[in-house]
Amino acid sequence: CGIIGYIGNQQASPILLNGLKRLEYRGYDSCGIGIIDNTNPNDINIIIKKNIGKVNEVSAKEDFSNMNGYVGISHDRWGTHGKITKENAHPHTDCNNNLCVVHNGIISNYAELKTILMDKGHKFKSETDTEIIPHLIEEELKKYDGPSENDYIYAIKEALKKIDGTYAILILNKNFPNMLVGVKNESPLIVGLKENEYFLGSDISAFLEWTKDIIPLEDGDIVILKKDDNNSDANGTGANLSYKIYNNDID
Ligand code: GLU
Repeated sequence: CGIIGYIGNQQASPILLNGLKRLEYRGYDSCGIGIIDNTNPNDINIIIKKNIGKVNEVSAKEDFSNMNGYVGISHDRWGTHGKITKENAHPHTDCNNNLCVVHNGIISNYAELKTILMDKGHKFKSETDTEIIPHLIEEELKKYDGPSENDYIYAIKEALKKIDGTYAILILNKNFPNMLVGVKNESPLIVGLKENEYFLGSDISAFLEWTKDIIPLEDGDIVILKKDDNNSDANGTGANLSYKIYNNDID
């Protein structure tokens, strides 16, 4: 029910943690953060930390402050499908931990999609509707041998075509470590723009203290936020950010 994403020249985890706390007033059962750790450019990984409880409790238990990376996503969960468990907390991943997804809303046809994916060999770790999303994208990406950025976006669109329901979704892919993708259908999602930093949130309060320059997305929108350098740091290096919104392109 509450999501925040960040891409920029600052460490992502303190900004995401702050956003999770801002959104917590609505009451949630669990939370989590996923970050692209490219400390070693030859061994880029997605690090996920999540658990049940209040944001401060989970942050202390999972050590949210000890996550290194400039691109990340996070989620305050109000579960609709699946109990309140660590496994059901977001983010969720595909089989190979290449993708990382947070989701607000409900995928109404998830059960049939899950059966199809399991028949194709996908293994699921949670009871959520959300977890089918990274697996669907993974399945689409199998059609490519070394997918390009355009192939990746196309794979997301193809996966979304199969999904019915309401959603605001944020997606990370470790093979595209300088990119954050957001999609929206009947759940709010807002882009926040600042020099050297972009935000994506389900609610403007997630990032209002950093910027008031916003773009509310429309249903069917896909937004791509990109950073053109690998080595941004907090010492004034620009992040060379760019964004692109594809309007009403899903379906
Ligand atoms: N339907 C998803 C779940 O149950 C997302 C719930 C939410 O929006 O917090 O995990």
